[in-house]
Amino acid sequence: MHVLAVAAAGRGWPAGVLLLAALSVPAPAAADLGMQGRWAAGPIAAGQAAGWRPFDPARLQAFARNPDGASIELLPAGGRWPDPPLVLMVRHPPLGAVTLLDAGGSPQRGALNEPADTALPAHGRIAFRIAHPPAAGQPLRLRIEPYPAVSAPMAFAVTTERDFQREDARWLAFVSACFGVMLAMALMGLVFAAILRDFTLVLYAGYVLGYLVVQAIQSGYAVRPLGIDAVAAAPLLWGRFAVGLAVGCAAAFLARFARLDRHAPRLARALHAYGIGMVLVSALAMLPLPALQAATRAIVNPALLAGTLLMLAASAIGAWRGSRYALLFLAGWAPLLVLTAIDSAQVSGALPGVLWINDACIAAAAFEAVVLSIGLAHRALDLRRDLDYARTLADADPYTGVLNRRAWTERLQLRLRESARTAQPLCVLFLDLDHFKSLNDNFGHHAGDDALLAFAAALRDPHLPQAEIGRYGGEEFTVLLPGCGFVDARRYAERVREQLRRMRVAVDADGRPLTVSIGIAALAPGEDMATLIARADAAMYAAKTAGRDCVMLAGEAAPVIAAR
Ligand code: GH3
Ligand code: MG
Ligand code: MG
Repeated sequence: MHVLAVAAAGRGWPAGVLLLAALSVPAPAAADLGMQGRWAAGPIAAGQAAGWRPFDPARLQAFARNPDGASIELLPAGGRWPDPPLVLMVRHPPLGAVTLLDAGGSPQRGALNEPADTALPAHGRIAFRIAHPPAAGQPLRLRIEPYPAVSAPMAFAVTTERDFQREDARWLAFVSACFGVMLAMALMGLVFAAILRDFTLVLYAGYVLGYLVVQAIQSGYAVRPLGIDAVAAAPLLWGRFAVGLAVGCAAAFLARFARLDRHAPRLARALHAYGIGMVLVSALAMLPLPALQAATRAIVNPALLAGTLLMLAASAIGAWRGSRYALLFLAGWAPLLVLTAIDSAQVSGALPGVLWINDACIAAAAFEAVVLSIGLAHRALDLRRDLDYARTLADADPYTGVLNRRAWTERLQLRLRESARTAQPLCVLFLDLDHFKSLNDNFGHHAGDDALLAFAAALRDPHLPQAEIGRYGGEEFTVLLPGCGFVDARRYAERVREQLRRMRVAVDADGRPLTVSIGIAALAPGEDMATLIARADAAMYAAKTAGRDCVMLAGEAAPVIAAR
């Protein structure tokens, strides 16, 4: 059963009936033995003839809710009961109790959420052992106890103990797997929420966990096999709390996950307000104040319906306006939504053949948890891409595209640490364009800008992809060559110098070419960054003093190459 089914408490969903009646499939033969049934409202004395209505026990039958419960009689189609031992299974049992009045021995009482019932230990169903079937022509008699909430429709089957055990184990494995998936997804959400400090993931976990609890209560799983006494004591209270938590978290999650603040801001605000309200109401309902509990009971059903419509509208509009996360939310939710519609129809007994609906709802919830987690992974990828882009922008010199001074210095710091660890050589180059002011003065700043761009491109060397190029300021550039000693660095510097000359950029009307002065410093053991840069800078000034357009190694007195 679904969230809405608990809340809708047997009202049905006419639209769902119309839409999905076609999906109603014939009930599978759950037992070899066909049965006929009849039921009557309230307790009926054995042998009483009036007030009975016939029904097919193999199909889902809604026994009208009334303050006295219902009485049921089941007869084998062939008139005779098979040889014992047999098991009578009641599937989709309501949260209230069902009593088998007489099948040899004292009456047996079974209830999904009563740990101490006297029926067979069973999961997701009530099962009675029939040690001595009634005589030929005599019925099995059952009582459905009145219950203040949902009256789920029920189907009955008589089977062998072995078949019952097999079906029970299969159900347990299936539901445990679905719940395991949901629990794992929710825990993953919480762990990532803590690490990434992302509240959207908390809402995701709240949604999945809340829904898991709802399903666990409705299917009886919380009590058998889990044995949670608190739930057994007050299943409806806990059910309402979990429903409120799940739907409240789902609404706020949708708003953030689908970025509705961009696509549909008013709907995003409505979803947030609804989400907070719903979680608050469900928390208040847990307080031991009868008046408050009655009030929350009264508003929870309309609030759930309103919330579902709001989320449906918000995700559809968000998807329409281009939020692919809204579309993904809708895709993940769609199976559950469709099944909920069928289930709501079935609560009123409109689709008696849909025996698989409760299990399908559980599988659909696990499916949704997985789809949403895939969406969350994509969202994390998007955020990382945004972050990478922002980082690239923050690190780049906006005009030339090489690293800016801060980013280059950080990079150098990093490489220095690596070199200290690995004892790899490392060289730093300081490059200053010669007579650049003259270029600006003679041909304008625009020409100067073009020359800066061309020079930055010349600094990129395909033979040294590890070179990290920075613009230190104005017409001063720096290059970091990890893994390179003097010999490689000098070769690189010469290539750059030659390439600039080949560009034939003039700095004055006489055609004097733009050149560059380069200083190189190789990292000395234990040297810090400031000293290394200062030595490269000093070498560059030495190159200027030596007549420009040359390369100087730090510590050397004369230019290595004085090419003029
Ligand atoms: P030297 O050979 O001694 O280095 O002489 P210089 O003219 O290159 O050096 P100076 O420091 O006197 O002048 C540098 C000039 O670079 C001054 C400034 O206008 C120019 N400059 C700095 N940044 C930019 C820029 O982004 N674009 C342009 N077009 N010019 C710039
Ligand atoms: Mg300068
Ligand atoms: Mg200069």
